[in-house]
This record gives sequence, C-alpha cells and structure tokens, in this order.
Amino acid sequence: MDSVEEELSWTVDDALALYHVQGWSDGYFTIDEKGRMIADVERNGRKGIAIADVVEQLREEGVPFPVLIRFQDIIRGRVTQLHEAFAAAIEEFSYGDRYRGVYPIKVNQLHEVVEEILEAGRPYGMGLECGSKAELVAALPHLADDDTLLICNGYKDTVMMEQILTGQQLGKQVIPVLEKYDEFERLLSLASRRKIEPKFGVRIRLNTGGSGKWADSGGDLSKFGISIPELLRILERLEEDELHDSFCLLHFHLGSQVNAIQTLKRGIKEITQIYAQLVKRGVPIRFLDVGGGLGVNYEADFTGGASEGINYTLQEYANSVVLQVKEVCDAEEVAHPTLITESGRALTAHHSVLVVEVLGAYRKDEIPKGFRPTESDHAVVRQMYETLKWVREDRRMRLSALLEAYHDAAGKRQEAESMFSLGILPIEQKARAEQLYWSICHVVNRRVRNSQAEWLPAELEALDEHLVDQYLCDFSVFQSILDHWSFGQRFPIVPIDRLDEQPDRRAVLVDLTCDSDGKVKRYVSAHEDKRFLDVHSLDDEPYLLGFFLMGAYQDIMGDMHNLFGRVAEVHVYADDEEPEGFYVEKMIPATTIEEILALVQYFPKDLQKRMEAIIKRKVDAGELRPSAAVRLLEKYAETFKDSTYFNTTAGRRSGRGESKA
Ligand SMILES: *Cc1c(COP(=O)(O)O)cnc(C)c1O
Repeated sequence: MDSVEEELSWTVDDALALYHVQGWSDGYFTIDEKGRMIADVERNGRKGIAIADVVEQLREEGVPFPVLIRFQDIIRGRVTQLHEAFAAAIEEFSYGDRYRGVYPIKVNQLHEVVEEILEAGRPYGMGLECGSKAELVAALPHLADDDTLLICNGYKDTVMMEQILTGQQLGKQVIPVLEKYDEFERLLSLASRRKIEPKFGVRIRLNTGGSGKWADSGGDLSKFGISIPELLRILERLEEDELHDSFCLLHFHLGSQVNAIQTLKRGIKEITQIYAQLVKRGVPIRFLDVGGGLGVNYEADFTGGASEGINYTLQEYANSVVLQVKEVCDAEEVAHPTLITESGRALTAHHSVLVVEVLGAYRKDEIPKGFRPTESDHAVVRQMYETLKWVREDRRMRLSALLEAYHDAAGKRQEAESMFSLGILPIEQKARAEQLYWSICHVVNRRVRNSQAEWLPAELEALDEHLVDQYLCDFSVFQSILDHWSFGQRFPIVPIDRLDEQPDRRAVLVDLTCDSDGKVKRYVSAHEDKRFLDVHSLDDEPYLLGFFLMGAYQDIMGDMHNLFGRVAEVHVYADDEEPEGFYVEKMIPATTIEEILALVQYFPKDLQKRMEAIIKRKVDAGELRPSAAVRLLEKYAETFKDSTYFNTTAGRRSGRGESKA
C-alpha cells in the first residue's frame, strides 16, 4: 500500500462501486462490512449468506475446488419475481386473462434446478418447455398435475411426436409447437392412428427480427417457424378434417438476451395481429407464447450503447408484453389470450456462483521490501535504489517529475543490460536492477493513477498495461465460461473476501488449459479499461474469486478441452436456525479422471495393464525394486479417482506463491 491515508479511505462501498455489484446483482449479492461477498438470497438485507462461510464449510468436508455453489433460494426468488411482475402488469392494465411462465430446460437442465423451479412456480401454474427428444423424455414425468403446461419446441421426429401424444392421452397439457409444415402432417397421421384429436401450437416466422447476439433466431433468417402461406394451408386442412379445436397456441421467439424492448414490442404487435385474425376466423387459440429473450444485465453497462446491456427491467418487460397484447386485442375486439413466456436465462443466471482459487501470480518482480544496497552492489543498482527512494518518499511529485523518474529507471535498466551482455555485470546484479526497475514503475504508476490527470504522456499511459499481473486460476474457460470464449460475454468476477482492503494489483486471469485463449479477456468493472481485474496481492491464505451469474447456459455447454471436466457442485439453502444462516444440502462430485477418460475410450483396466507392462520390464532389467514398482503402480491407479483440476489439498501450498518474472 502506498500510503496510510489511502488505506484508511477505502471502504466496502468503494468495492461495491469498483466491481459494479449494484449494477449486475439485482439485489441478490452485496458486500458486508467485513469485506465479504454476501448472497442476499431474499434481497431484503436479512437473509444473507457469506460465500466465504460456505467455502470454509466445503473445505472442511473435503469438497474439491473449483466448486459451483447453487443458491436454491435465489432460483425461487426469481420465479416469484417474474410472476409477480406479470401479476402487477395484469392488474395495472386490467388485462382479461392470466399469465403462465414455462421454463425452457435447455438453459439449465440439472434435475435439482428444474425441480426447484417447478416447486417455486406451483402456486402460479408454472410449466416447462423442451426443445429436443431427450429433454421431452426428462420433462414428461415431471408434470405433476393435469394443468401444468409442457411446451415442445424443436424439430420433432415420429418418436418425439408419439411421446407428445402419449402425454395428451394421459390428459396432460403437452403442446407441440410446429416449427415446419411437415411436422403438421406427421402429427395428424399419428393422432388419427390413435383416434385422438391432437392439440398443437404454431411457431410463426415473424417479419420482426431479433436484436442482440441471437438476432437470427427470429425474422426471415431464423431456422424455424411457419410462414403465413403455410399457416393458411394448415387452417384449410383443419377445416377439412374438422379439427378446429386442435390449434390452441401461437408462438414466436426472438432469440435470447433481447437487448432492446422496442424489438420485443414490434414482435408482439405482429403476433397479436395474427392471433386476432385467427380468432375471428373461428380458431379457438387460447395461448399466446412470446418465447424467451428476457435479458440479464451481466455487464451492467449502459454507457456502451444498447449492445453492452439490457435497456429494460423485468417489470418493464412484463408491462410491455401485457400492454401490447391488450391494445391490439382491444382494437380488434377479440378476447385476451393466456400469456406465456419462456424465460430461461432470467430465471437461472443469478443463482450460481463458481468459486475458483488463484494458484499463483506471475508478476513483474519487485525488489524485496527491506532491500538496502551495500558497498558490494554495483553503482547502477545503487543509483536505481536512489530513484526508488525518491518516488517512494516525495509525495508531492508532479507528473513531470514522475516522468523523469521513469526515464531514469528505464535508462539505468538499459545500462545494466548492456553491461551484462559485455560480461561486466554479474547475473545477481542484473536481477536486482530488473527488480528495482519494476518497483519504480509500480510506484510511479500508482502515483500517476491517483493523480487523475486528464492527459498523460504516452509512456506513463502505457505503464498500466506493462505492469499488469497474470493470476493463474484453477479452472477452464472452456468448461465454465464458454460464452466468454466464444463471443466475449463478460461475467462479473469479484474476490469473495478481503473487499475491505483496497485491491493493490491489476491482473489478467488465466486458466489451466494449454490454450492461449484460456484466459479472461474482459471484465465487469467501473474502470473505463475493461482488460484487467482489480485484485489483492496474494498472501499465505487461499485467494478465491467468485464468478457470478453463471446459472444460465454455461454449465451445460461446457467443453472438455484438455480433459478438464465438470466441477463439483453444491446446493445451498438459507436457514436462520443454522449458525451461519445456511446449510449445504447436496454435493454433486466433480468429474473424475476415470470418467472423463472413458468418454474418449480410455479405460482403467487397459491403462493399468499397459503401465504394469512398462514397470515390469524395468523390474526384470533390475532397474527397479519390486517393492518400489508396486508403490508406483498403486499411485498411478489412485489418480483415476482424482478430479481433473488442480488438487490443492494434496501437498497443499508447497509450490504456491508468486513466481517471479
Ligand atoms: C432458448 C429458448 C428459450 C430461452 O430463452 P432465454 O433467453 O434463455 O429466456 C425460449 N424459447 C425457445 C424456443 C428457445 O429456443
């Protein structure tokens, strides 16, 4: 820390601002006065769980890190919030029917997540949405009562259609949404064979395109959807076969993360117009399904234009859906339909936090704190030390003086390098000059940044990037934050503790994979420059970072690059009776080495046999004692059960610390 005053003036409010917590947390996360990240699961300031407490308990139980913590209460909270927002809108605009959410399980199919959502949504009649055969097979047995909706999107083969009809025969509200015309023919022929009148909906190919990164999910470019001419063909067939009551739902989907509310409103206007026309032709459509797309504000950044954030709140979303549908229906004098949305991301993103340990720092190596040059040090080292003393002690230095100090240091460093090449300077002295150079740069840079000057000389401006650390983290970008790798989605990352201390380092986070893309390139922060994360210097305690808003899409899309598998997961519930205010209900183990190898067709028996053969040859040649051979083989066999990540409990901390440049 540069000075005592700076240290004293830092408060947790500064941390809240620096990491933009209020922007992205939607009230579910905050920082307490001890500087710890808190999951405030009910957003009321009373039901808070310190993530560091959860971590401590998990360590005691021997859970391997990295670990994904799911706050089940947050899922419940989101389900409630969504339905209450719609209830408020329906009340405010005197809408004539109800709202029912369905959860698209592709966003996070984990059984516990789906069950939690269903349970929390039961009072509101919440249902599910599936988009593939496997998802349908998982979802169908979860329709507890006959009223729960299961909307089936995706392109459906005969096997899938049969399962849907089975659901309908059992009296369940399983509604296939036709994406292509041929599905309609398939449905009719299968239903007539069963002698039942099928129910179905239609996904309309709207003129309105989506907005944001998934814009092509809607509009002319989308993969799915029935065109208006095809829709008319369907109507004719229904009239011929006297199946008018079958067509019960209209659907569209603009794509995920719709960032502009205006786009959504246009889509709703268009579909409601179609709805009104159909109703007037006597088609008894009951449900209007406006798809997913309700956004999550990961970046909490409104300054970068619409592409960097979501320009509406949950309530505005609900108001827009309700009001747009009502206005068109009233103008056309048709009844208000039951409204459905398929919000997935917005329900699940907040509830899970990935906790990752920093294994070490690669930093531009500074001179040890107590260093004093002696007579035996080279003149260049002593001169650089004088410069360091100057910048450290003179607190009133102006920019021009800081620049001068920097020039001194850079010049001396070059001098040291030339002398080293000529064989005049011993390697220890060169190392010292190097360390002094980085120390001077650090102090100068800190002063420059604190000066908040509007204009900086280019060399000082560049110092920041020059000096940044690399923090090596125990995770894989490809497994845990695939969307960051594939299209630069930013996720909030915050140390889970020590936030009452001013972060004194800036770092780029790198992962365990051998891929140069295995790093976090952009961060959520209050700084204009998003390429670094503010972090603390490492000490002897583990340094843990929380990756937030991980609950939507990331878990399920994870990739096994370098054979890093799924991380361990725990499910946490708030409970006032417990000393720390929570309990851990369930732990799902991380993928073991054995499991991940099996996916690429390596099996322990065969591997062990091969290893045995190698070892046996060494024993036979007299190069290895049989007892040692047994031990080596046992050790090899033990690794099959290990997790794929860095094992911080085996030989803990031995190799840890800050590796030097
Ligand atoms: C992916 C998808 C959703 C979920 O979208 P979110 O943006 O996560 O709410 C909903 N409906 C359909 C048809 C989808 O393909």
